[in-house]
Amino acid sequence: MATLSKEELLKIEKDGLDVLADIHRYAKEGFDAIDPGDFVRFKWYGIYQQKPKTDPYFMMRVKIPGGMLTYEQAVVVAELANRFGRGLADVTTRQAIQYHWLKIEDMPEIFDRLAAVGMSPIQACGDVVRNVISSPVAGLDAKELFDVRDLVWEVEKKFLSNKTYSNLPRKFKISIAADPRDLGHPEINDLALVPAKLGEEVGYHILVGGGLSAKPHLAQNLGIFVRQEEALEVIEGVVAVYRDHGYREKRNHARVKFLVADWGAEKFLDVLEAHIGRTYTRGGERQFEPWNGAYLYGVHKQKQAGLNFVGLSLPVGRISGDILLEFARIAKKYGNGDLRTTNTQNIIIPNVPDTNVDALLAEPLLLQFPPQPTAFVGHAVSCTGNEFCNLALVETKERMKEIAYHLDETFPGFDNPVRLHVNGCPNQCGQQAIADIGLAGALVRIEGKMQDAFDISIGGGLGEHAQFNRKVVLKVAGDKVKYAIEAIVRHYLAHRTEGESFRS
Ligand code: SF4
Repeated sequence: MATLSKEELLKIEKDGLDVLADIHRYAKEGFDAIDPGDFVRFKWYGIYQQKPKTDPYFMMRVKIPGGMLTYEQAVVVAELANRFGRGLADVTTRQAIQYHWLKIEDMPEIFDRLAAVGMSPIQACGDVVRNVISSPVAGLDAKELFDVRDLVWEVEKKFLSNKTYSNLPRKFKISIAADPRDLGHPEINDLALVPAKLGEEVGYHILVGGGLSAKPHLAQNLGIFVRQEEALEVIEGVVAVYRDHGYREKRNHARVKFLVADWGAEKFLDVLEAHIGRTYTRGGERQFEPWNGAYLYGVHKQKQAGLNFVGLSLPVGRISGDILLEFARIAKKYGNGDLRTTNTQNIIIPNVPDTNVDALLAEPLLLQFPPQPTAFVGHAVSCTGNEFCNLALVETKERMKEIAYHLDETFPGFDNPVRLHVNGCPNQCGQQAIADIGLAGALVRIEGKMQDAFDISIGGGLGEHAQFNRKVVLKVAGDKVKYAIEAIVRHYLAHRTEGESFRS
């Protein structure tokens, strides 16, 4: 019989969701009382140990399904960052917020205050269904085929604190969007619902088995047309098939992408239909429009007449509680108070009447977080890196800012945004494999000392012609990497044909 990983044994001993009472107990007894196995289970409540693990500090992810944040929620998220997290509130590539510097003693109040505004860190991490992502402009976007927001909330409710699905082989990431530009980055999710048509009827195609990390896979289309009212049962069925058949022996071979790669889409569908006890309509046509990296800067008309959404740049996704309070204030003053976080680590103010757009654009906050950012800073994505992450090999956010500002200074007015992504380790929280230019952290020995370095890859992207980027340069020293990328961009400028994008 195959041997289970040590994490599997921990989960058998006590389910991740069962650690809540212990968190409350540790909040009274302090950091030193924490059982080592419970540090792993804390992830089911969105809590990770911060670097170094010997210090009594934690990171926490707070879920924002579909990136949809109300005024009241944004205020609470910001106040908690200021009160407990030294003011930091990072927007992640799954539209969540990540805190740092939390203490175990803080957790009960954080849970309570989030719950009071309908928010939760529960299952933001762990071997569970994670924060469901969507198009950042779901329900607003004139291009979407239909509104998926209710389904996003139904999925959140279905899996939240649900012990039927609280012990999956590994994390499980879902994207639901009906936008033909693939704003929900479907191909890199474990399960994605994308827009499709069967004749004039609009529904979903189902993609399974996507994911990044050290071995990136693009999700495969199951080839069925799923009606909107059938979507939840299909999602639940896919998660159940993964729970029952996913691999549990090695953590780095446990994501559903490995099962799908071994089985193929056809067998996965057979098992899924047998599990649900019915078959689904074959065919339909997936709907595509050119992928834009899910960048939505500037002012856009919503499908609701007279309303607009305004996309703003948050360099590498880092803001403070005070800045988030300011965003909430202007969202309320000029819109209806709602905000949207994006999978490109940016922010959107929706529901701004035509008559308020000019006044919103004149707000001083937008000088710092502009609707039309410079080409490189405006398309730079970064994971957490070794500032806080125990798995990181290198520092990432400051390095990415240094690179992007350098490129903006070197190529002022650059006309064709180049998406830059950086990861501090092979885990790909910064999604480097889908970048035009991706940086993967590594270490290199220079004059006897280990120093930050980066492997450079080029040519990634999603959409109809999704592909991962390819490594072109290995282990460039951290302080030289901006010059290496400058050389790549110069080469592109010198050799591009008319209208040729960086990726093509
Ligand atoms: Fe940490 Fe690696 Fe994820 Fe970066 S990619 S946040 S270094 S685990």
